[in-house]
Formats: sequence, structure tokens, C-alpha cells
Amino acid sequence: MLRLGRWRATALITALVMVLAVLIAELVISVLGRGDRWIAAASASLCSLVLTPLIGGFIVKLVFELEGARQQLAVLATHDDLTGVHNRRHFMAEVQREWLRARRYNLAAAVLLIDADHFKRINDTHGHLCGDELLRQIARATGESLRQADVLARFGGEELIVYLPHTDALGALDVAERIRAKVQALSVAWQGAPVGTTVSIGVAPLRAELPSLDWMIHEADTALYTAKADGRNCVRTLPFEPSRNGDAYPVNSR
Ligand code: GH3
Ligand code: MG
Ligand code: MG
Repeated sequence: MLRLGRWRATALITALVMVLAVLIAELVISVLGRGDRWIAAASASLCSLVLTPLIGGFIVKLVFELEGARQQLAVLATHDDLTGVHNRRHFMAEVQREWLRARRYNLAAAVLLIDADHFKRINDTHGHLCGDELLRQIARATGESLRQADVLARFGGEELIVYLPHTDALGALDVAERIRAKVQALSVAWQGAPVGTTVSIGVAPLRAELPSLDWMIHEADTALYTAKADGRNCVRTLPFEPSRNGDAYPVNSR
């Protein structure tokens, strides 16, 4: 019914009810052995033609409204309404499976924890609405820096989290640095004045010794703490063994 669309579904139901009504009228006349078949068929089709679109159309409308509400609920259950990115619950459910697979098969992966710098100050100076808009822009800029397989979510107030599958530590640092630079270049026009912010990012690459995804997030949080302590607007990770050689060795970027 949903695939047919509202009007086509109503038309189909009307046609089916008409056929059924005519068949029943004919059956009743056959059983009684009297009555005019043509008058019975005509009144059965007329009644169903008038009544079915009214009653059936109302039911079809309810079915479509219910489906709309179900879809809306599915989005609300998995997304954050302010930024439109996934919520923390969805992130944990989605990434948990991926994480176990990556660890089991020794695949590269990384987590980024992104925290807006001095965000309280933004709210205090320009108001919460300005802060909200800036958060939306940070989430958008972050999303634009990711690949389709990466998972982005709002982790808490002014914090975002990203899971990067098939990405080693150096790759994750590159992505984090790209996000940091992109957010730094952001500017929201607020009451005639440009307002911007920066982010600090903690990076945690997947290591075979990590006992759980929570532990990996904890490592990203520790790296984030270092980024804050180092003056903010920078990317930090815990010391790691690079799995490949690169031109750079950016354990600490910027
Ligand atoms: P730091 O650089 O150490 O992270 O400083 P900070 O001010 O960002 O951190 P702090 O934890 O002191 O404050 C977080 C602020 O983020 C305060 C809170 O009002 C703001 N915040 C959290 N969620 C939202 C939100 O949804 N909208 C807005 N506008 N602000 C938010
Ligand atoms: Mg925070
Ligand atoms: Mg902050």
C-alpha cells in the first residue's frame, strides 16, 4: 500500500470492494432465488463507489500518517536533533560491532574525540542560539571531512566523536588535522559580527591490547585532555608505533 501511494491505494481498494460487493449481491440473489440482478449489481457498485473512498481513504490516510510518524521516530531515536548527526547511543551500537571485527581481524581503525574550545565563553558572550548555530556548523564541517564509511556522532554537549574504520594512526591524525583547520576557518555571522571557534581533538588508534571500545574512547579522551592542556586548537594522540613509514611523524600536530 505504501509503495502504491495514497491515491492509487485508495483507488485499488475501491475497485476491490466494488467487485466484492457485486459478487455478494449476486450471491444473495442466487440464494434467495428472487430479485433483479442488474439492480442489485448497480446499487452494490454505486454504494461501494461512494462509501469506499470515504472510509477506505480515511484508513489509507491513517496508514500513511502512521508510517510518517514511524520514520520520524526512527530518525529521532538515532540522530541528535540540534546537529542532525547520529546520537551517542546509535554510535555505540553501530561502532561496537565494527570495532570487535576490526580487533578480531587486526584491521586498522581509530577514534577521534572533538571538543569545541572555550564554548562556555561563546554562549556567555553571544548567547546560546549563537552557540547552537556554531555547533551545527562544526558538525557539518566535520561531516564534510569524512568518508562515507566513517561514523560521526554527537558525544555530549559540545563534543563530537568519530570512528574511522580502516584508518591507521597517521591517517587518523591527518583527518583530525583537516577537521581542526576546517573548524578554525569557520565563521558564523551573528548579529552583524563574525563569530568563530576552534576545536581540540584527541586521537586513539586501535591497538590489539585494547580490551574494549570504551577503553579506546577513554584513550581518545586522555589525548584530548593533553590537547586542552597544550593550549587548545590542536590535535594530540598517545604515543604509538606507526604501522607504516611516512614523510611526517605527526604524533603532535600543529
Ligand atoms: P574547554 O575549552 O575546556 O572545553 O572549555 P568549554 O567552555 O568548552 O568547556 P566547559 O565544559 O567548561 O563548558 C562546555 C560548554 O558547552 C558549556 C555549555 O553551556 C556548552 N554547551 C554544551 N552543549 C551545548 C548546546 O547544545 N548548545 C550550546 N549553545 N552550548 C552548549
Ligand atoms: Mg566538553
Ligand atoms: Mg569544550
